Amino acid sequence: MTGEFSPGERVLLVDNRRRRHLVVLVAGGQFHTHAGIIQHDDVIGKPDGSTVRTSRGARLTGWRPTLSEYILEMPRGAQVIYPKDIGPILMLADIFPGARVLESGVGSGALTSALLRAVGPTGSVTGYEIRDDFAQRALANVHGFLGPDVPLEVQVRDVYEGIDEHGVDRIVLDLPEPWRVVKHAAETLVPGGILLAYLPTILQVGRLREELVSAPFALAESLEVLQRGWHVEGQSIRPDHRMVAHTGFLTVARRMADEPPPSSGGE
Ligand code: SAH
Repeated sequence: MTGEFSPGERVLLVDNRRRRHLVVLVAGGQFHTHAGIIQHDDVIGKPDGSTVRTSRGARLTGWRPTLSEYILEMPRGAQVIYPKDIGPILMLADIFPGARVLESGVGSGALTSALLRAVGPTGSVTGYEIRDDFAQRALANVHGFLGPDVPLEVQVRDVYEGIDEHGVDRIVLDLPEPWRVVKHAAETLVPGGILLAYLPTILQVGRLREELVSAPFALAESLEVLQRGWHVEGQSIRPDHRMVAHTGFLTVARRMADEPPPSSGGE
């Protein structure tokens, strides 16, 4: 992921109007833009951030994509979780190097890629995904960015029916009915382990929180993350006119060592 561009890797070509094209470099290859043709060989061997010219003299800069950029450009099966939420998820769920993580569903593999980077080579991510086509898409996306040597196993199965893993440190859920996973999560997580769920609507959050109260979970918290970009140009420095107003809510809770006493609410 460092040094000069080599054949087979991806480059993000950005023009002067910040239009982006994600291209896989091939020796002798060409990339056609409306502003002319880029020869792949003009990029191969150059350092990250090099500017190249098209056949018509337009300038594009080639960048090695960051994980955020890759997630926004990669092919999707299911809707992905955006970098705005992925960053906080890694912190709220406290994904650490060496952690054993269970993720469901896997979808397009956006969150999976970030989890794998955070757990590193000594950790592991096990994904439960109900749709085989999404599981394949996710694996292709993850391997496309991180390479084939990642501690990831994707199983095509329904997480509502149970979890076979034991001694898992963290469970991260992005599916419609996470309350149906709470009992399984309690059996799977180590004491002090963390459950995190991403949900698009607040009634789903309410339903999940109810389920968490009657299970051995504590310190439950729900929140949303708002990100507002700013326009910065000369004297004109102000918030952008448009922003993404809503993506999803994050709910996090920790597995207690003991079962909750009846009607205590688990707090
Ligand atoms: N977080 C993913 C997107 C997940 S989309 C990303 O960032 O790319 C939700 C996924 O959950 C879908 O792929 C769907 O097929 C899967 N899913 C829904 N119900 C499920 C279940 N009961 N068990 C396993 N996977 C499920």
